[in-house]
Amino acid sequence: MTMPITIALTKGRILRETLPILTSAGLAPLEDLSKSRKLTFPTECAGVRLLLLRGVDVPTYVQHGAADMGVAGKDTLLEHSSDGLYEPLDLGVARCRLMTAGIKGTELPHGRIRVATKFVESAKRYYAAKGRQVDIIKLYGAMELAPLMGLADEIVDIVDSGNTLKANGLEARETIAHISSRLIVNRAAMKMKYHLIGDLIEKLAAATTRTQG
Ligand code: AMP
Repeated sequence: MTMPITIALTKGRILRETLPILTSAGLAPLEDLSKSRKLTFPTECAGVRLLLLRGVDVPTYVQHGAADMGVAGKDTLLEHSSDGLYEPLDLGVARCRLMTAGIKGTELPHGRIRVATKFVESAKRYYAAKGRQVDIIKLYGAMELAPLMGLADEIVDIVDSGNTLKANGLEARETIAHISSRLIVNRAAMKMKYHLIGDLIEKLAAATTRTQG
């Protein structure tokens, strides 16, 4: 009997944009994920099932081997330790940028600044590299509100079209990282299920090229 392979992913934009790649790789789920409340799904490929998690939990599951593989945004991976994880493939979907932003037309005060973000580790690294002293304020959502309400001088957030910032009177400033979804693999599973996982990575790489070509 073949050992089953579990691939963890997350609902929303990543799932929507990854499904054509999974389908092209012969890994289409056997039922409509958006219409079900279930969290595990068999695929067209008998030995492979999908697991639906919160995005931030995908690296954790894969790191601990509770899922063999996963699809996670680079923004999430930058916040997470990479211990025990391979990142063999850029799927090139759910593209966006991690950026700094502030109130349009304003300048940063001199000296220490307050930065509100969900992306604490990326923000710390970015401002440290610039030699900027910052107090990071961790938020879980609606980052755009923080400068408007006087909670922060700047935010670090995901920007796609820039419409969310614009609608709130903010402007994007500097790009910290270009983000896309990545395939991640548990290091131990890669060794123990080398042929199965190696084959899946190859299929997904070919499918990525096909669906984006
Ligand atoms: P936009 O208004 O198009 O700049 O989109 C910005 C908002 O959409 C951000 O606040 C993010 O929460 C969300 N967003 C856009 N793209 C992504 C992505 N690839 N991954 C996660 N969130 C995203």
